[in-house]
Parts: sequence; C-alpha cells; structure tokens
Amino acid sequence: MYNITLIPGDGIGPEVTMAARKIIDATGIDVKWEIVNAGANVYEKKGVLVPDEVYTSIEKNKVVLKGPITTPIGCGFRSINVLLRKKYDLFANIRPVKKIKGIDTPFENINLTIFRENTEGLYSGIEKKETEGAAQAIKVITKKASLRIIKEAFDYAKENSKKKVAVVHKANIMKLTDGLFLECAREVSKEYPDIELQEVIVDNMCMQLVMNPEKYEVIVTTNLYGDILSDLCAGLVGGLGLVPGANIGKGIAVFEAVHGSAPDIAGKNIANPTAVILSGAMMLNYLGEKEKSDLIIDAVQRTIEEGKYITKDLGGISTTSEMTKAIIEKI
Ligand code: NAD
Repeated sequence: MYNITLIPGDGIGPEVTMAARKIIDATGIDVKWEIVNAGANVYEKKGVLVPDEVYTSIEKNKVVLKGPITTPIGCGFRSINVLLRKKYDLFANIRPVKKIKGIDTPFENINLTIFRENTEGLYSGIEKKETEGAAQAIKVITKKASLRIIKEAFDYAKENSKKKVAVVHKANIMKLTDGLFLECAREVSKEYPDIELQEVIVDNMCMQLVMNPEKYEVIVTTNLYGDILSDLCAGLVGGLGLVPGANIGKGIAVFEAVHGSAPDIAGKNIANPTAVILSGAMMLNYLGEKEKSDLIIDAVQRTIEEGKYITKDLGGISTTSEMTKAIIEKI
C-alpha cells in the first residue's frame, strides 16, 4: 500500500485532482490518500496559507499529488509552490511535452522533456523596492544547483536513448549567471560523449520551438526560462490542459500539472483533467508502478483519439466528469 498526500489546491484544482485520484484508484493500486489542503481556499477559511498538517503529511508520505494554487499578482503572499519547492529542495521540475494523437496540431512528432532548475534563478524571492520608482530582483545561480539539474537531464537522456540535450541560456548578456549555467552544461556533457549538447540562446529557442520543435528531445534550463518555455511547449501540443509535471528532490516528490488554478473556468466541471491525470501516471512510474502508469497513459490517449468524450479546450463538449468516466472505462 502507498500513502500519498493529496493537495486539491485552488480554482479547478479540486475538480482535476479528484479526477486523477479516481483514475489511479481504478487501476487497482492500493493507495491510502491523505487529503490536506493549502492555498487561497484555506486562507479564506482558516487564515493560514499552509496549515502545519500539510507539512506533516508531506514529510511523512514523501509523495504528493498536488492541484494548482492561486498566487496573487503584484501584491499579496508569495507563491506557495515556490515555497514548497525550496523548502523540500525539489530541484528538478520535469515536464514532458508529447504530441497526443487525435489533437490537431501543426507538428506530428513533438516529444521533448523540459528540465527546469526549480530552486533558484530569478525565483529566489530576493526582490526589493529601491525607491518609489525603482525595484530590484536578484538572480541567483550556483554551480551546485546547476550541475545537479543538468546531470538529471543528461541521465534521463541516457536512460531513454535520447541523442541530444539542449541547454537554454542568455549567457551573451547575463555573462556571470547564465554564463555559469552554460559552463556547467559544458562540464557535465563531457561525461556523456554519446549525447550532443545543443547550446541555444533563450530568445532563439522561442522561435525554434515554434518553427522546429521536433528538433529537440531534452531541454535543460534555469527557473524562469523553464517556466515560460513549458507554457509555450504546452501550446504546441494542444494547450495547458495536457502537460503534466513532477518536482523531484532527494526523497520527496510533488506531482502537479504545468497549468495554474484557471479561475476563469473554476467550479464549472469543464476543466481538462488530462494534465493532472498524466502527472498521476508520472507519480506511479516514480513509485515503480510502470505497468499501472502505462495503463493510465494508454487510456487517456485512447479517450482523446476517440474524441467522443473530451473537454471544450480540446474541441469537445464533455464535462470533466464525463471525460474522467470515459478514461476509467478504458482502464
Ligand atoms: P492558468 O494555467 O491557470 O490558465 C491559463 C489559461 O489556460 C486559462 O485560460 C485557463 O482557463 C486555461 N487552462 C488552464 N488549465 C486548464 C485545464 N486543465 N483545462 C482547460 N483549460 C485550462 O494560468 P493563469 O491564469 O496565468 O494563472 C492562474 C493562477 O494559477 C495564478 O494565481 C497563478 O499564480 C496560479 N498558478 C499556479 C501554478 C501551480 O500551482 N503550480 C502554476 C501556474 C499558475
């Protein structure tokens, strides 16, 4: 039996995480879900963003399926997502982006995985107002954090018979910070002679991904670029409703979709549950349950390809619950 922490989150979070939970249960795997919540929802009720029970549960179970959490723009509290990633040193944010049959997209063979450094860069939270008309943010890049995310990307490439890893940077302008990240990539790549290191400047990468996304297999980059490129890549395969993710550290892992809490469609039972369901499949794979993970991926793919029970963002008319039911029937 697996003890797993489930954080429903805000907005569409409760709808899509419950869908994922039902689908994981339908594989027959024995999971004891411990449901604890954090975020804006909880704050309204309890006056605290992350109750202690959330930390206790994460530290006990070490594996988490998490819904998106709303972060206010500009003012207000800092991101709980960033806080959890830093607190538990979840240094690798892994986001596979894959073409799913049945979705009409300009490219047929997109299959790439983004490795985003998840603990530093411009998300270090070191920001201050200098004077009334000026503010500053500090970008932190360390050799230690850079080497470990880059190694993670190369190891993944090796294990999955990938031939190339693209390091995405802006070292021409940010010579010391991005320069260090690039240097680390060059150093690590020497240990993997069979894998080509592609060095791509981030602005060029945006154009390359829009025009030639099939050229890339693995992308490794710093925090902010990784966040932005993930949404760009989601757009290439049919939208944010489809792309899963994992935040992996030493011993603790949090699985969540790339998308946010989507307040514009929350509570309407129309959100696409695929991204969180596929995050759940990544979680089962992490737990060593590859067969069950593949069952879920296959059921999701067949449901989308059939096209009968898909949500509005994919061109269908089904609700979240109808799509979930259709996937369960294929397991
Ligand atoms: P978003 O990802 O929530 O939504 C962007 C657009 O994509 C919206 O039009 C939304 O309706 C659509 N969309 C997203 N997920 C979808 C799904 N599953 N099915 C169908 N359509 C979907 O991004 P946003 O609007 O920029 O952010 C909303 C909130 O989410 C913000 O507070 C942000 O901070 C937060 N956020 C949280 C996380 C996280 O918890 N990991 C990640 C990103 C954003």
